[in-house]
Amino acid sequence: MAWFNKKSKRIESVPPEERVVKTENVFVKCDSCEEHLYKRDLDEALQVCRHCGHHFRIGARERLAMLFDEGKYEELDAEVISIDPLEFVDSKPYTERLTQAREVSGLPEAIVNARGKVGDHLVFAGAMDMLFIGGSMGSAVGEKVTRLIEHALEEHGAVVTFAASGGARMQEGTFSLMQMAKIASALAQLDEKRLPFISVLTDPTTGGVTASFAMLGDVIIAEPKALIGFAGPRVIEQTIRQKLPKDFQKSEFLLEHGMLDAIVDRREMRDFIIKQLNFMMNPEIRTELEMEKAQRAGRA
Ligand SMILES: [Zn+2]
Repeated sequence: MAWFNKKSKRIESVPPEERVVKTENVFVKCDSCEEHLYKRDLDEALQVCRHCGHHFRIGARERLAMLFDEGKYEELDAEVISIDPLEFVDSKPYTERLTQAREVSGLPEAIVNARGKVGDHLVFAGAMDMLFIGGSMGSAVGEKVTRLIEHALEEHGAVVTFAASGGARMQEGTFSLMQMAKIASALAQLDEKRLPFISVLTDPTTGGVTASFAMLGDVIIAEPKALIGFAGPRVIEQTIRQKLPKDFQKSEFLLEHGMLDAIVDRREMRDFIIKQLNFMMNPEIRTELEMEKAQRAGRA
């Protein structure tokens, strides 16, 4: 008998369908440069690609956690949710869309209102979420933005919004459009009280949101390469019968043409906002303004 007899038990080869390295939830491919990114690194970099700086879209709650001191905030107005005033049905009933949106996004509405401290300043922030019917603005979203401003008026705080929206919510028709005027008039009161409103535009900010509060900020900031516009390029080309320049609805183009105050990388956003608040909420500057106003009133 040979010394080197094969043992009877053969090594079983792994079937081909199991021959994969389990990398699910470990790597993410960048939408822009197609590099593979460690999910953990991406989380640490606030969902920004470290190769090309591409800003991944993020949800409302993540956004708020990135803004507030120690990521802590109190959620406000969660009870304000959409109803179906028109009993609207397109390919499916609006009520069904709402239920689905709540399941998919895990949010009660397309915006989350929050109260907390940012660089020790009292801030009322609202963050929109694309997962909830494309971040569309219906009457509940409009009401929530208005309440955010009213909280700030009452408690003497600043307002910060993060827009991410496809525009007005079609399923609520005119009720959606009315929100634009409602929010704008609340912002006028904020202006009278000389309280700051910082508007941050993220990818994408379009339609009725661009046409109302998103563009009414005392400071308007955008994330890099965000799509920002009112109507889509095809509609504009057909209307004005002209070819549009490349990338004309991107942050960089808008900054160049004076529509924005700054483009800020997400990783520097919080510090940038704190700097703005330090300036705008500065008690010394505020007293000076009050005195000036009183003087002017006295002279009149
Ligand atoms: Zn990339």
